[in-house]
Amino acid sequence: MKKRPPDPPSKSCGACNLCCIELPINTPELQKKAQTPCSHLTDKGCGIYATRFPICRQFLCGWRLFPELGEEWRPDLSGIMILQVAQKDLPEIYRPAGHGMQFLIMDGNEAAVTRPGVAEFVADQVSRGVAVYLTANAPRALINEYLPVAATGNLPIVRRIILHLCRLLMTARAQKGLLAMLPHFYRLHVEKLRAATIK
Ligand code: SF4
Ligand code: SF4
Repeated sequence: MKKRPPDPPSKSCGACNLCCIELPINTPELQKKAQTPCSHLTDKGCGIYATRFPICRQFLCGWRLFPELGEEWRPDLSGIMILQVAQKDLPEIYRPAGHGMQFLIMDGNEAAVTRPGVAEFVADQVSRGVAVYLTANAPRALINEYLPVAATGNLPIVRRIILHLCRLLMTARAQKGLLAMLPHFYRLHVEKLRAATIK
């Protein structure tokens, strides 16, 4: 297994425990569904912290991984959990830029994506060819396909595209079953085609 990079010295999870709630886990030792608290989670944090499972020891969210993200990006404060996406799991054209990232919007709260700094960070990543996904658990959208690099300097447009995608994804999440999600997949597809025509 790849060795975990050292923790940035100034960051610790503090009161956040959202990865123990929001993320699905499927390992031999521990299985849990997304958006469901782990059975070991207590009011004071992990109840088996000293002996917690390898998957728990190895995991760091993007806020812990990326030094450029300030305290306000901590998932319980921002409403966004950033997850690193391995290079090998990205479409070929985004691999030269290294790992990708996935913005998981929690609590159905679109205010999370409109707060200061989000559009700037996303625009910077997209302009450098980094793959950036947006999701509310399912489905997910690759923002790069909706936000042409040429438009990343226009922050009002960046904000509008992120908010629009967020609303589509939130609506899709609220639907039950794949059939009910189809119209939302279709709208995402149309938006993608429209973005491809912007030069
Ligand atoms: S989501 Fe990030 S900050 Fe929150 S507990 Fe997990 S690793 Fe720590
Ligand atoms: S075992 Fe502990 S660290 Fe791992 S998911 Fe459960 S509460 Fe979190």
